Amino acid sequence: MKDCLFCRIVAGEIDADLVAEGDGWVAFHDINPQAPTHVLIVPREHIATTNDLGPGHEALIGQMVRAAAELAEREGIAGSGYRLVFNCNRDAGQAVFHIHLHVLGGRRMTWPPG
Ligand code: AMP
Ligand code: ZN
Repeated sequence: MKDCLFCRIVAGEIDADLVAEGDGWVAFHDINPQAPTHVLIVPREHIATTNDLGPGHEALIGQMVRAAAELAEREGIAGSGYRLVFNCNRDAGQAVFHIHLHVLGGRRMTWPPG
């Protein structure tokens, strides 16, 4: 998808602060961090929203969640805690229509979310 920001980051056409990558995904620092640790885990494949996931994506999503847990361990927030978020569509405030898993931690968060 040539007009998709995260496809362009995955393709190396736009710089990002990469922290890890796997076969099906890349992880980079969010440009506008909302917590001391705020990393986005993004599939290499363009998938617009979580509504577009199919049975063929189950392994990919599992790998992304496991990557988030490994990253949290590496960042030293696995024990203190962290939040994993996929925003989907308007009510959740999704701004980039290429799915991404937010990994947020390093501070106490509130519930329910705003
Ligand atoms: P969402 O609201 O779930 O779609 O989140 C989109 C996220 O992408 C926001 O947290 C933005 O700060 C982040 N973002 C937007 N552009 C970039 C970029 N070029 N590099 C890294 N993160 C970005
Ligand atoms: Zn994309």
